Amino acid sequence: MRKEHFEERTYKTKVIDEIICNKCGKKTTLKNEFPLMHYFKTDFSYGSSYDGLTLDFDLCENCLFDFTNSFKIKVKPYDELVKWAEED
Ligand SMILES: [Zn+2]
Repeated sequence: MRKEHFEERTYKTKVIDEIICNKCGKKTTLKNEFPLMHYFKTDFSYGSSYDGLTLDFDLCENCLFDFTNSFKIKVKPYDELVKWAEED
């Protein structure tokens, strides 16, 4: 059995003030433009010479597509829900 009560607490949380594209340096402080900036993070694991390290960065959409268009094997955006429905 637990006895509980309500207690008012104050928490700190990170709030994004600005996002800067790591490739071109484009900056935005506008919250409605935050979705146009894309965050990437990867962890290196055993076998990599970067084992235990993490790499993260932000790209604006232009730089993201410049990057993916440089791929030998092309990728393109797709609608996750449509793809999921088509697989059924
Ligand atoms: Zn950019």
